[in-house]
Amino acid sequence: MNHPVPELFGSMVFGDAAMKERLPKAVYQSLQQTIREGSPLDPAVADVVANAMKDWALSKGATHFTHWFQPMTGITAEKHDSFLTPADGGAALMEFSGKELIKGEPDASSFPSGGLRATFEARGYTAWDPTSYAFIKDDTLCIPTAFCSYTGEVLDKKTPLLRSMDAISREACRLLKLLGKDCKRVTTTVGPEQEYFLINKEDYAKRRDLILTGRTLFGAPAPKGQELEDHYFGTIRPRVKAFMDDLDQELWKVGVYAKTEHNEVAPAQHEMAPIFETTNIATDHNQLTMELMRKVADRHGFVCLLHEKPFDGVNGSGKHNNWSISTDSGENLLDPGKTPAENRQFLLFLTAVIKAVDEYQDLLRISVASAGNDHRLGANEAPPAILSVFVGDELGGILHAIEEGRDYAAAEATKMTGASVLPPISKDTTDRNRTSPFAFTGNKFEFRMLGSAMNIACANIMLNTAVAESLRQFADELEQADDLAAASALLIKREITAHKRILFNGNGYDDAWVTEAEARGLSNLRSTPEALPHYTDQKNVDLFVRHGVYTPAEMASRQEIQLEEYAKTLAIEALTMVDMIRRDILPACVSYVHELSDTAASKQTIGVDNTTEVTLARTLSAATADLLTHVTALENALHCVPDTDAAGTAMYYHDAVLAAMEAARADADKLESMVPKTRWPMPTYSDLLFYV
Ligand code: ADP
Ligand code: MG
Repeated sequence: MNHPVPELFGSMVFGDAAMKERLPKAVYQSLQQTIREGSPLDPAVADVVANAMKDWALSKGATHFTHWFQPMTGITAEKHDSFLTPADGGAALMEFSGKELIKGEPDASSFPSGGLRATFEARGYTAWDPTSYAFIKDDTLCIPTAFCSYTGEVLDKKTPLLRSMDAISREACRLLKLLGKDCKRVTTTVGPEQEYFLINKEDYAKRRDLILTGRTLFGAPAPKGQELEDHYFGTIRPRVKAFMDDLDQELWKVGVYAKTEHNEVAPAQHEMAPIFETTNIATDHNQLTMELMRKVADRHGFVCLLHEKPFDGVNGSGKHNNWSISTDSGENLLDPGKTPAENRQFLLFLTAVIKAVDEYQDLLRISVASAGNDHRLGANEAPPAILSVFVGDELGGILHAIEEGRDYAAAEATKMTGASVLPPISKDTTDRNRTSPFAFTGNKFEFRMLGSAMNIACANIMLNTAVAESLRQFADELEQADDLAAASALLIKREITAHKRILFNGNGYDDAWVTEAEARGLSNLRSTPEALPHYTDQKNVDLFVRHGVYTPAEMASRQEIQLEEYAKTLAIEALTMVDMIRRDILPACVSYVHELSDTAASKQTIGVDNTTEVTLARTLSAATADLLTHVTALENALHCVPDTDAAGTAMYYHDAVLAAMEAARADADKLESMVPKTRWPMPTYSDLLFYV
């Protein structure tokens, strides 16, 4: 607990320091080359690395190893094997071979594959990702791996992410070469800010909705919400502080650069922001962060809720995906420098991103589509379901000047350098910019539509590939040019003009924006079942096939899995709701009506005025009858799920089941305010959100 941070940091990671110390120089260099340049791994080094890794792990007290992977369930999967190998005379040795390091064969039949692999073809492979360091968790050496089927189709989120990183690297290097830069590898970097709620374990245990669905399906608003805005960045309560300190320590041990911990907008809501890293590592680390948040919360008597909308009426939780691109020499390609108007490289990359977001709005929307996030997109403090790009006034001015074919005016230039101590491009600190779903923030873009529970791989696969496609087109065009300067200027002007409709600096939460966006021809895919069918639109299939990120079959399977997941999530929620209404809420209401009626009857026999009891019993009886009507309607909706394709089923759940759930919930929430606290069968929003 009390180790100095530098000593603690990465102490459970087989990282660069451990490799340098434990690997022969040649092996170390070969592995480094793979890590740095993404070149294939030399199989000869695997045995040596495996052995060194095992010795290191044993010295840290590990007994098992696992291939740690990210199947399409959204969580991480692991199957533990011990290092134990029988030796002569009934003895045991601890062994770990290169083969075991490089490849695993978990049974793939129980992971979702969307029809890619029949259950009888159960074989699946995991393959080591040497670019993400192995680490120890729970006395187990975890080896980050990719997961694919026997026939080679990918069954996970990591493989396409790595492929998309290759694609953007390839195309960016081509463009940089034209600009006179010899660059072997370009990487995208990500810093995901993670929001979450902490509630008391005892309260959680009393709510089957939280246990089974991750969110409250009932709950009248607490008398106090977030209207006083007294929680954001507020003083952190001691118990929460202890949790955060413990979480930092755990994250540091496994090499996650946890940097900022603070209270968020909603009561009981908090955030952790790490320092950015290469995208696949940031993805692994975010998965690990979510897991550790849950685990550490438990030690402190809390439950960590990662659902996008655990509570109605207060903010939901998102994940801000801060994203940039940098070269192998560490140059940030989205850094505008002091004079962005003259920075051709910056303008080309900026234009590439703007074009990508405009052309693949639907894909970016789909990358953040889930039943949970549907409660959040477009709601309070969250970005709307419409994609737009915020570049700020300064950059906006430059792009406008380019579009109009004039020099960037001096007056505008002074505004930019108004105070010499300030950076030339102001960071987005203003309130209204918080509403942008995709905002330029100085030297990176912040994609804010992601839901808190999501694996960030999806969003980054879409982003990397879409930008790779812009860069490919730019490189193709400029490779043919005689005069690079003139050709780039022309290209930038043309593309900015073509895609300016996606640029929006105003308030994204304003209803007027929805109308304007429609007039601009921007897509507005409001719900998951509305968005997902567009995943396999021809232009999207063409994109992924061209860049070798997905095959058409892989895309169809992913679409199917996500549609099914949506329907299943809603089915579980609806069933949980029916169960809680029938077995908890209705009995509580009926028994209270009974008590009131008893009292009323007794009062009548002794000739005392019983108007109060009669009135209360009547109102409550009527409201209970409404709830019974609506829960019956919900049950009927569940009985009538049409036998159609995944898209049709998902849409039915959205239109019929979700609507029926909302009606039933409204009744239940009304009843909550009429039944004595002691008789209400579950902790209320006040209990959950304002514990001490
Ligand atoms: P801001 O004040 O603009 O929000 P911060 O410096 O607080 O910026 O960073 C917010 C998040 O963005 C952090 O997780 C940080 O590591 C990440 N970030 C900063 N620079 C980059 C970059 N070049 N690429 C990706 N993420 C970045
Ligand atoms: Mg934030």
